[in-house]
Amino acid sequence: MKFSNTYHKLPNHFYAPSKAAHFPDPQLIRFNHSLSQNLGFDFSSKSDEELAKLFTGQYIPEGSAPISLAYAGHQFGHFVDQLGDGRAMLLGEVLDPEGKRFDIQLKGSGPTKFSRNGDGKSALGPVIREYILSEAMFHLGVPTTRALAAVSTGEIVYRDTPMPGAVFTRVASSHLRIGTFQFIASRNDVSALKALLDYSIQRHYPEIKNQENSALLFFQQIAKAQIKLIAHWMSLGFIHGVMNTDNMTITGETIDYGPCAFMDHFNFNQVYSFIDRNGRYAYGNQPKILMWNLSRLADCLIPLIKADEKTAIEMLNHELSLFPKMFEAELNHRMALKFGLRYQAGFEEILECWFNYLQSEKLDFTLSFRNLSKILKKNDNSFFPETPQFKKFESLWRSKLSNEQKLQEKMDAINPLFIPRNHQVEKSIQEAIRGNYALFHELNDVLTHPFSEKAEFSIYSLPPNNEEKVTNTFCGT
Ligand code: AMP
Ligand code: MG
Repeated sequence: MKFSNTYHKLPNHFYAPSKAAHFPDPQLIRFNHSLSQNLGFDFSSKSDEELAKLFTGQYIPEGSAPISLAYAGHQFGHFVDQLGDGRAMLLGEVLDPEGKRFDIQLKGSGPTKFSRNGDGKSALGPVIREYILSEAMFHLGVPTTRALAAVSTGEIVYRDTPMPGAVFTRVASSHLRIGTFQFIASRNDVSALKALLDYSIQRHYPEIKNQENSALLFFQQIAKAQIKLIAHWMSLGFIHGVMNTDNMTITGETIDYGPCAFMDHFNFNQVYSFIDRNGRYAYGNQPKILMWNLSRLADCLIPLIKADEKTAIEMLNHELSLFPKMFEAELNHRMALKFGLRYQAGFEEILECWFNYLQSEKLDFTLSFRNLSKILKKNDNSFFPETPQFKKFESLWRSKLSNEQKLQEKMDAINPLFIPRNHQVEKSIQEAIRGNYALFHELNDVLTHPFSEKAEFSIYSLPPNNEEKVTNTFCGT
């Protein structure tokens, strides 16, 4: 690993130097060899013991100068002006063989300047959860941060109950969030804000660098990326659970796998997160929250858009007014493909009919989409209870279908069979806490190929039975 540290070019209130805690007995749980190879690392001469030490920060590789980043954020609508990496430190950045830059960050490596009352550590559960969910997301084709390593520390951390501790290694194209902009904007430091904008553009959107009003273009780019992301989530039944502004990247990568979940049976208002008591981040509320979060980013950019505040606000408001339609178009486009259709007039009626049917019959979101192709392939609609609603849906749907070649295969390539189901993730966590990682490994292997049928893995495609149902998810931090 050859590290560089471009964040160090930013004014120094963006970050603070960090040092990992000492851990008694780091043991490698899982290492992502394929990601490591893609990043151009060569760890072939390293033992598991050495990797465990490296990915708990027990020694600092050459070129690394660890830091924790500052950020602010709206948490459930309330502004907190100082959050920051309270349990994470950045080892540094690496360039992959194609020259793409990635952050390598340790999560749970010990207290930092931003820990407030927290211990800076992570329990094993959240590490297992983020590993499974973020890699599953990647293999489903959704932009996301990734999992390079999970290491147990040999230490006990205290949450509701004592728990084994662990460190997670996260790879991200950066850790810049809407909250990073809020951190600087709330301090009214326009020159630092400009430095952050320039840095962000250089790193993520270099094509707009020398264009007129690059701040506005930057805003459009982020909005586009976030719109794509949230539409993609929703097409897979994913509920992020904590869409706070500090958990929204400027790249449109999914970040922060806390109390998130893929839903089993379809429910537009589904919430899993234990802390989301009012359903702010419910499945169907995600587009509204996306718009709200983009408005908070717009607040930050005002002084960078135009010297005249009123004009700047008008320009940003105009952009914001376009986003709901853009989102709708993106979601409709994605959803149409799942039915083997191209988006066309009348599609909204099919979609509404379908979701009403799934919701009233409590049908599984993922399997319902997956089984659509069977109707076309084998005229097999045994999965679907034949209600009047279903008949209406089927005739509307069939009336729009083309006789395109290999349509069923195309549908199977975007409607996954395997998603990280909550009850399986929960079981993997419970087993891991008892020291058994077999299920964790197997689940990861299954989710590497979410679209391919495999008889021996069929159990992983099934929704939970009544005893297995998980109704609440926890951050567990
Ligand atoms: P999250 O809910 O994971 O987005 O975290 C919100 C904030 O709480 C971030 O600033 C985290 O760094 C911080 N935080 C979460 N867990 C801990 C912990 N165990 N110790 C210190 N800070 C933490
Ligand atoms: Mg966070």
